[in-house]
Amino acid sequence: MKLILLGPPGVGKGTQANLLEKKFQIPKISTGDILRSEIQSQSSLGQKAQQFINDGKLVPDEVVIGIIKNRLQKSDCRQGFILDGFPRTLPQAEALKKITPIDHVIYLKCGEEELIKRLEGRRTCSRCAKMYHIIFTSPKKESVCDECGGDLVQRKDDHRQTIAKRLQEYDRLTKPLLSYYKTEKNLKSVDGLAAVEDVFKRLLTMVSPS
Ligand code: AMP
Repeated sequence: MKLILLGPPGVGKGTQANLLEKKFQIPKISTGDILRSEIQSQSSLGQKAQQFINDGKLVPDEVVIGIIKNRLQKSDCRQGFILDGFPRTLPQAEALKKITPIDHVIYLKCGEEELIKRLEGRRTCSRCAKMYHIIFTSPKKESVCDECGGDLVQRKDDHRQTIAKRLQEYDRLTKPLLSYYKTEKNLKSVDGLAAVEDVFKRLLTMVSPS
């Protein structure tokens, strides 16, 4: 199964992609995660991407298209994959179409006010990458991961000013993908405001053969 999860930052694509990855034993591929790990290892790709990410801007198409081309060639993608955060622009969608056919495109939707609340409260374990939210899924001990005891950190781009820029970039560059995939792929939508388990159940009905 080859699946794209579309939707604004903070809607829960990563959380759902993790659940789908476990359920179907196919890799979740997040360009955001790949870029952050490149930044952490201070690779030349990471250095190229860092300023864009910190400014809440999209990384240039040719960079992320290159990343995806390489990643999709790996053997673990043979049975399928879940794309989280790619494509984000029309040129990326066109490039993907040339790389491989896609089975499902699902749009997780959510209003802007809720997205800001979700993004601002989001924290990630610096050791095991488990995600928390300071209000909705807070850890037992403040700023400490329940699973591994690592420090919880806030992503630099989850600060209010950068969030606003990321949402503008989403409106300007990513939203046009909704009509693109309505025409290309019978885009399906799910209410991203629902509880995580309910969103997941809806996703399963959409990707299961009827
Ligand atoms: P994410 O973790 O998906 O929210 O991505 C974090 C940041 O990485 C984004 O705000 C962009 O700066 C960059 N990024 C991730 N995926 C892409 C993409 N497909 N195209 C361009 N930039 C991306």
